[in-house]
Amino acid sequence: MNPKPESCYANSAMQNLLYAKYFTDLVDSIQIELLLPEQITLVTELKKIINEFKKNQPICISIDSFRTSVSPEYAPTSLSTNAPGIYHDSIDFIDSIFNKMPEFENLFKFEIEIESECTQCGRKDALRKEQMHKFEMLNVIQNESITFKDAMNRELTESLVKRCVNCNPRDLETEEGTIHNILKKVVFKEDQKYMIIGKNVMVPNSKTKYFKFNDEKYLFNNRSCKWKLIGIIIYLSYGEDSGHYYSFTKRSDNQWLKQDCLGNSTAYSTATEKSIAYLEGSTPNCLNLLNTRMLLFERI
Ligand SMILES: [Zn+2]
Repeated sequence: MNPKPESCYANSAMQNLLYAKYFTDLVDSIQIELLLPEQITLVTELKKIINEFKKNQPICISIDSFRTSVSPEYAPTSLSTNAPGIYHDSIDFIDSIFNKMPEFENLFKFEIEIESECTQCGRKDALRKEQMHKFEMLNVIQNESITFKDAMNRELTESLVKRCVNCNPRDLETEEGTIHNILKKVVFKEDQKYMIIGKNVMVPNSKTKYFKFNDEKYLFNNRSCKWKLIGIIIYLSYGEDSGHYYSFTKRSDNQWLKQDCLGNSTAYSTATEKSIAYLEGSTPNCLNLLNTRMLLFERI
């Protein structure tokens, strides 16, 4: 029987956030007295975890009380190893933290400018701007020889048929329209320190073969700043509603750690599930590149 870790989605998310130094600094700086009542437990629990982390790295974390403080839906359901766990997702868990503490979200927020371009006449119209804190790849791309950057840019463009005011300035009602390319540009905000990219984004490339974990990167062709990868969350599906999350994080000395709550045979004999961390070396041994759920980049 496959072990069924119940909290690995949350452990993996938290391990990633613990290595995000601007995030932990922000948590440290928050004064509990200034918080709304519903935020107090969450921030208090976070401060405890970060405090433990600073004393003891790599940390083996158990975050049961923190999970409950994020939302009752993440509360531990059962301490029995026989009861099936309720499956949650690491990025949803992070979303819920941000929901409760919008101040955290500001470190991750960026803007997407959306423009429409008529393929017939080339006229461009600004459509709108959207603010978000994560970029979720929409399509699963597997076994294709495209680069990481191409994979991301593919998600940024699409086309639709709409009326062009230049090609067809009259007849608003009946005009069938022309094809418009929808161009999306990612704009990083000044105080943004992190970029969360979700889904299967580690695409092997025919030229480089593998994703370069330690390169400083431009993201989304935006040359205003470079980013370094500091966290990876892998999701392995065992079938319907059953799977396992584990994570990699990069330390300040550029060594990678692996955290996996299945890494210890005693993990299921204890009532409290912990995420165990191991030193991984200069490159994560990522056998499951195509199962990446989340990449966390830090601004350089
Ligand atoms: Zn046109």
